[in-house]
Amino acid sequence: MNHPIQKQMEPDSAVYKTLLESTKAIPWRIDWSTMKFTYVGPQIEKLLGWTQESWATVEDWATRIHADDREAVVNFCVSQSKSGIDHEADYRALTRDGEHVWIRDVVHVVRKPDGEVDSLIGFMFDITERKKTEARVAELQKELEALSYRDGLTNVANRRMFDSALEVEWGNALKNRTALSVIMLDIDYFKQYNDQYGHIRGDACLKKVATVLSSAATRTRDFFARYGGEEFVLILPETDAAAALKVAQRCRKLVLEAQIPHEKSQVEKVVTISVGVSTTIPSQNEDPISFIESVDKCLYVAKQRGRNCIASDA
Ligand code: GH3
Ligand code: MG
Ligand code: MG
Repeated sequence: MNHPIQKQMEPDSAVYKTLLESTKAIPWRIDWSTMKFTYVGPQIEKLLGWTQESWATVEDWATRIHADDREAVVNFCVSQSKSGIDHEADYRALTRDGEHVWIRDVVHVVRKPDGEVDSLIGFMFDITERKKTEARVAELQKELEALSYRDGLTNVANRRMFDSALEVEWGNALKNRTALSVIMLDIDYFKQYNDQYGHIRGDACLKKVATVLSSAATRTRDFFARYGGEEFVLILPETDAAAALKVAQRCRKLVLEAQIPHEKSQVEKVVTISVGVSTTIPSQNEDPISFIESVDKCLYVAKQRGRNCIASDA
């Protein structure tokens, strides 16, 4: 005998219908033997513009899937259903006025007592907003990744990017037995520049020098970065010592010609740079770290020689 309260709670089909048709998700049912919809919620018309009556067969559903998603989604849903596996699929459903809405279709396979598939029942959820958010998040992630390889002040590649680029070019040069040159550039008496003009103008000077230097090397694989502080670096793949020296001379000249006043410099009355250049044809028993050390040594030599000059170990 049923408990009176239990009896009260037993919903009849009208209650079920009201419940189903008042949700945002769209309920539906397909008869497996005929591949026809025996039910689709009236919400379909509000979401996609198609009437309940026009949503009759599996073909009606399939043809209203975005062409790029259709084949994969139909194949997936049919094979899962045949195997009697509950599943879900995300796809773009076409609306009656030619737009699309992102749908997540969640499908339950109903079996007969003998195990045969009887019908499919499911809910379509509008996940357009979620997809938009996902796309925005992916965009932001890309931006963030790009930013993490860029120097915030000068907007040129940063040290991290330099490390990756050097690794790649070192590998290329090693494999192809080609010359690899690296140029290090350091602003002369920059501490005095900051002391004289203040940090804000110091920053502006760094930006200007970065802009000027980034135009110095012109081959497509030439790579320019801020190495740190007031130091910059150039990677010149497939470039021998003589060609690298020419680029170094251009760099020194470009900065000099920018004519950025620097009263406290002990070499010129404008901003100058010291430059170290080194070239190698990498071999297995060499590594990029010791190569960069040799470039750094050249830069040190240029400083020793009085600055505003170039030193190379060629
Ligand atoms: P040298 O001619 O031997 O290269 O001397 P220097 O003064 O240029 O070199 P030092 O290494 O003594 O000083 C570098 C200065 O660069 C000190 C530091 O405050 C300044 N600097 C580093 N990064 C920045 C930055 O992002 N902005 C500004 N404004 N200054 C910076
Ligand atoms: Mg320095
Ligand atoms: Mg310096």
